[in-house]
Amino acid sequence: MTNKYMEVRKSPIHRYGGFALKKIRKGTRIIEYQGERISPKEADERYAKAGPKSIVVLFNVDKKTTIDAGVDGNDARFINHSCDPNCEAVDDKGRIYIEATRTIEKGEELFYDYNLTRSKDDAPDVDKQYLCRCGAANCRGSMLEPLKAKRSKAKKRKD
Ligand SMILES: [Zn+2]
Repeated sequence: MTNKYMEVRKSPIHRYGGFALKKIRKGTRIIEYQGERISPKEADERYAKAGPKSIVVLFNVDKKTTIDAGVDGNDARFINHSCDPNCEAVDDKGRIYIEATRTIEKGEELFYDYNLTRSKDDAPDVDKQYLCRCGAANCRGSMLEPLKAKRSKAKKRKD
C-alpha cells in the first residue's frame, strides 16, 4: 500500500523509519495506524516473549483495545519514536492517526512519542529495556511514558 506523504526506508536512528515524501503542513493527517484490533491481554500473550521488539507492532488504544500491526498492519508501524517528535498519534473515535505537529520538510524522518504505558509488574530495569537513542536535546532516555512526579504532601493537622 502506498501513502502520498511518507515512505519507508533505512533509518539512522533505528532500522527502518518513515520519511516525508514532500513538505507536510502542520496538522496534516499522514497515515492511520492499522492492524488487527485485539485486547491488550491477547497482545500480551502474543508478544510475551518479544520484549521491546513488540513495541514495533503494538499500539494501545485504550483498556480494551490494542492494535497489532503485525497482522494487516501498514507502513505506520515503521515510524520511530522520538522524545522531540514532529508528529503525534491522535485518537479519533478509537482509530489512531499519525498527524504532523509542525511543518515537516521533504526527506525528514517522521517521529512520534510512543509514550509507552507503564505497569505495576514492569521489571526494575524496564527503562533500560526500552532505552531511547533519539538524540534529542530533551531525550528522556526511555520510550516509556514519563514517571509521574512525586509531590510532597503535608500531613493533615488534627485539631
Ligand atoms: Zn529520546
